[in-house]
Amino acid sequence: MQTEKLFDRIDSIRFNNVTKKYGSRFAVQDLDLEIKGGELLILIGPSGSGKTTTLRMINRMIEQDSGNVAINDLDTKDLDPVRLRRNMGYVIQNIGLFPHMTIGDNIGLVPKLEGWDKEKIEERVRHLLDFVSLQPDMFIDRYPRQLSGGQQQRVGLARAMAMDPPLLLMDEPFGALDPILRKQLQKEFLKVKKEIGKTIVFVTHDIEEALVLGDRIAIMDQAKLVQVGTPEELIFNPVNEMVAHIVDTDRKFKHMDTLKVKDLMSAFREEYILDASMNACAAADEMTRNNIENAFVFREGELLGQLSMMDLMKCKEESRNISELAKPLKTFKPLDSVAFALSEMKQSGEHLALIMESSKPVGVLVSDEVLLKLI
Ligand code: ADP
Ligand code: MG
Repeated sequence: MQTEKLFDRIDSIRFNNVTKKYGSRFAVQDLDLEIKGGELLILIGPSGSGKTTTLRMINRMIEQDSGNVAINDLDTKDLDPVRLRRNMGYVIQNIGLFPHMTIGDNIGLVPKLEGWDKEKIEERVRHLLDFVSLQPDMFIDRYPRQLSGGQQQRVGLARAMAMDPPLLLMDEPFGALDPILRKQLQKEFLKVKKEIGKTIVFVTHDIEEALVLGDRIAIMDQAKLVQVGTPEELIFNPVNEMVAHIVDTDRKFKHMDTLKVKDLMSAFREEYILDASMNACAAADEMTRNNIENAFVFREGELLGQLSMMDLMKCKEESRNISELAKPLKTFKPLDSVAFALSEMKQSGEHLALIMESSKPVGVLVSDEVLLKLI
């Protein structure tokens, strides 16, 4: 049952005048686009602009009406669709792990279908768990429902990489996650990207995500490709108002000195608050239920510190109160300058800070060096 490798690496993916219609409406119209081997290309644009359709024409989950898609100059029409799909990883928002299968079995599914032996599968699964920062011993025998949304998303990425495909297709993979976690995963994903040197096509509607992750960004609107270029090209030479609006040049790229913490913070949510009296397991359950990976511990309105889901994973063995586990963090005010806040955070190596106003939390600041460089 072994599927032959179609390509060891991607040199290019070319859309040649590709059109897809539903009834009389264009989903994608006259698309000409070349994705280069080894790059992370972002597809961004309003809902319904044709991003998902474009992505799915690469693995033939959707067939175009006219034009062709070529990978390394091979017309995908001439390739068997199942074989084509086994040669690329596909990650979506609600990753659809099989609930009755362990994490290990979920990740090892395709290798098993491909007839790998047990030891080789387990070795691969452990390597992949480690790669997505989930301790293999802790996670391999768990079931999906025992994991938070962020942890499940990591498993989804591990599963997509099971066969070590040279190409990853990702459709809003972080879209359903809370904003803090999303930024963390983006940052980690950046490391993944550097390490693995794969070709990645990544759909998002979040321009910050696009600017942080993308080597190049393709902007779509109403079934058409409007502009493709590096983040700098889009920011400094937008082809029209719509692109300028999407990259939001005015708001994000005004001079650093004038930016306040409130301009860049994420909104605070009540679910981020945990009471200091909770034990670690109860806190982990509550965070899983709320689908958050970071929380702040308060005692009678007073901030004790922060907690991440990872800090709580050993709750059963250790059975501790979260007031003991909370780690210190910095707080700032909404009108503090971003430059000041980030340099303070950098000095103490923290990437998360709480924004307080009149002793109440109002926001969360997540440092992001890459975005900063762009500003
Ligand atoms: P995006 O991913 O950018 O939100 P899509 O590629 O999913 O957009 O969709 C592009 C357009 O095609 C939209 O107008 C959408 O309503 C339409 N469309 C997508 N799939 C179908 C379908 N199966 N049947 C009819 N119309 C569809
Ligand atoms: Mg979509």
